Amino acid sequence: QSEISRVHPATDGIDLKDGNGLLEKESSPAPSIAEGIEGCIGNTPLFRIKSLSDATGCEILAKAEFLNGAGGSPKDRVALSIIKMAEERGLLTPHSGDTIYEGTVGSTGISLATLCRARGYLAHICMPSDQSTEKSDLLLKLGAEVERVLPAPIVDQNQFVNLARLRASEHAFDPSHPGTGFFADQFETTANWLAHYNGTGPEIYRQTGGRLDAFIAGAGTGGTISGVARFLKPRLPGLRILLADPEGSGLYNRVKFGVMFDMREREGTRRRHQVDTIVEGIGINRVTANFEAGRELIDDAVRVTDEQAAAMARWLVERDGIFVGSSSAVNCVAAAKAALELGPGHRVVTILCDSGTRHLSKFWAKVGNIGGVSGGMELEDVIH
Ligand code: PMP
Repeated sequence: QSEISRVHPATDGIDLKDGNGLLEKESSPAPSIAEGIEGCIGNTPLFRIKSLSDATGCEILAKAEFLNGAGGSPKDRVALSIIKMAEERGLLTPHSGDTIYEGTVGSTGISLATLCRARGYLAHICMPSDQSTEKSDLLLKLGAEVERVLPAPIVDQNQFVNLARLRASEHAFDPSHPGTGFFADQFETTANWLAHYNGTGPEIYRQTGGRLDAFIAGAGTGGTISGVARFLKPRLPGLRILLADPEGSGLYNRVKFGVMFDMREREGTRRRHQVDTIVEGIGINRVTANFEAGRELIDDAVRVTDEQAAAMARWLVERDGIFVGSSSAVNCVAAAKAALELGPGHRVVTILCDSGTRHLSKFWAKVGNIGGVSGGMELEDVIH
């Protein structure tokens, strides 16, 4: 036995010439070639999360949106939809050096900055300073202009969305920015939920053969949950649409009681921007057009704590090797709770929004390193 095969036992007994049939055959199917990075957006896999399915007796399926090939999140679909709609309306001209302004906690900015490179635009991104530095660093590497501002309520003119809108309105007077200025406006634009109505929703329908009992997602703008709900609910009237909502968000109350805040706790309730949470990208305290577009189709809301999200992130790595960010972990907690409530034999679909690599410095710093082969955690310990 050679030195090498002792060091690499995986090669033991394998004929390296034809790989004992393990290596790819030359006559593989005809290649399918995508058109640029934009061609790598959408058609993401739907896969069974084995550990959660086994633990709940339901089938828990995850739409792997972190595999969107431009910016690595469902916001690729949204950014492309917003840009195409603006181009069709003559508001943007490809390869003109026009500037796209956006207020974002990061994912939409990353998708926009990527597509701006591909289509010859400049991206100007305003984001809250409490979001992970991985996201702002990445934006700078992509060549976007980045303004980080203190977290603030929507009534504050320096709130990140208000600032982006202001910068877009100042564009015409800014000699350093030639071309047109365009405010992407992800929270309010129809192009957002339409991206999910035209893409994510139909894909889930096809991939499940129309057999699913619940769809669960958190909401940042609300585009995902509204677009998917508006596509699926008329086709599957028995389908339950559930909102996964983190601490400090008013959307839970909006779904449950029709108002953002329970008036009895108005003074005592800390708003999303006041909560020192490790969950990024979902949960807001205001009404947005994209959330309202599907709100009446949402059947119920599930509260998820930071501790539950962190425990779920750990669980998913330990048991399945799935390494996700905070909003995906929130979605999985809510999916597991919903599955237990529905009872065995049901099928639940949720979204894995982005990779844990975007959240190493904040969310994963709290979760910590994973040791050993598999933890002794029970599902009840995670979702208690
Ligand atoms: N997860 C992450 C990481 C996000 O950045 C966002 C959007 N801010 C969402 C989930 C929520 O998606 P939506 O805006 O469609 O509600």
